[in-house]
Amino acid sequence: MSLKVYINGELVDKQDAKISVFDHGLLYGDGVFEGIRVYKGKVFRCKEHVDRLFNSAKAIALRIPMTKQEVTEAIHRTVAANGRPNAYVRIVVTRGAGTLGLDPTKCHDPQVIIITDSISLYPREFYEKGLEVVTVPTMRNHHNVLSPKIKSLNYLNNILAKIEARQAGVIEAIMLNPLGFVAECTGDNIFIVSRGRLLTPPPDAGILEGITRQVVMELAERAGIPVAEQQLTRFDLYVADECFLSGTAAEIIPVVRIDSRDIGDGTPGKITLQLLQMFREETDNNP
Ligand code: PMP
Repeated sequence: MSLKVYINGELVDKQDAKISVFDHGLLYGDGVFEGIRVYKGKVFRCKEHVDRLFNSAKAIALRIPMTKQEVTEAIHRTVAANGRPNAYVRIVVTRGAGTLGLDPTKCHDPQVIIITDSISLYPREFYEKGLEVVTVPTMRNHHNVLSPKIKSLNYLNNILAKIEARQAGVIEAIMLNPLGFVAECTGDNIFIVSRGRLLTPPPDAGILEGITRQVVMELAERAGIPVAEQQLTRFDLYVADECFLSGTAAEIIPVVRIDSRDIGDGTPGKITLQLLQMFREETDNNP
């Protein structure tokens, strides 16, 4: 069965899913998106993702030509049409086709695209042995430049950081904010465990407020692990007992080395593994 892509109300074969070369999503990265998981045929935290999509769109003054209810139905329709019980869903809303100038008021036809596929952000082995990461020179956007809370189609900031990580011989980067505090990774939020407490940078550190991050905090509370949002420096990372990343695509992945320093004993930590196990159960029992 060929992959079906939703595009403006229709489900079409993958090779027929096309948009204009004049679309400002392509020309300027003008648009927003979401990545959502389907576990056992059910869309995980759908409402949270749809809400964030609409907030991202509002922040860039992009009117999505559908209601939240319609977008939710379109996601379910696309998932059902592709018949994969476990999948990754990408929803993209572009500004639409316009002229060869920035002016978004010339774009009258925003495109709503929904793709379901599989995703593997990091090779499997790293989930068992842990990931090595580095901090990189490219900073996370200042909120007055382009708010990191907007999940926009403009990911160059993160792509530059990813390139710097690759140049350093690893596959993921930790980005700091313009004040030098830890923000997040290129497509994941970051957590550390320090003296039994779970710590993660607050939203105003300049992060995307991850839905997986929220799930992790809920799970920690359920397990009686103290959680706090706290400004973190590189020093805090280096001396942490444990570290891990969270994201829809990545799920939860342990980090065992940062800037050539072993984190804890250099193996995935106990609390990290406990949360990973709880996360697995949460997605298996996806409400
Ligand atoms: N930060 C960034 C920059 C992201 O792009 C993402 C999503 N891939 C995340 C964090 C994690 O967010 P979520 O858990 O909602 O997927």
